[in-house]
Amino acid sequence: MNCSLCGAEVSFTSEQNPITWVCSRCGEPGAGIGDPPPPLLSPENLVEFEVSVTWKNGSPSLDELAAMRRLVPEFANMPPSRVRERLSTGAGRYVLGRQPKYLVVELVELIASHGLIATLEPTGNLLRENAIPEPLLLRWASSK
Ligand SMILES: [Zn+2]
Repeated sequence: MNCSLCGAEVSFTSEQNPITWVCSRCGEPGAGIGDPPPPLLSPENLVEFEVSVTWKNGSPSLDELAAMRRLVPEFANMPPSRVRERLSTGAGRYVLGRQPKYLVVELVELIASHGLIATLEPTGNLLRENAIPEPLLLRWASSK
């Protein structure tokens, strides 16, 4: 993040709400509220998972196809035949993306609320402790 006055990199003095920082060049302080709040940067919360939707009968049913079109913005305006093509490439499942653990719970709830089965697999990666990761799927979680 950069200073609003001089553009230099800021140093965070608090990485939890309220988030505060100070400019490393001109000393200008700043503060803000993260929404959603920044993750507690414990290693446990930063474990990364691959999130998939698993088809109940090995391939996407009509209901699952319709649910995926509601869930994934990219599929909403795509013809159903094209969505089916995209969803049929995986072996019995469709990989949505990777998320750190602190975002996974909400995402799994969102997937389940559409009547779909979410599958989680740890990737073995740990996100960098001093980075607040850009959540790939957060807009879905926040669009509830
Ligand atoms: Zn500055």
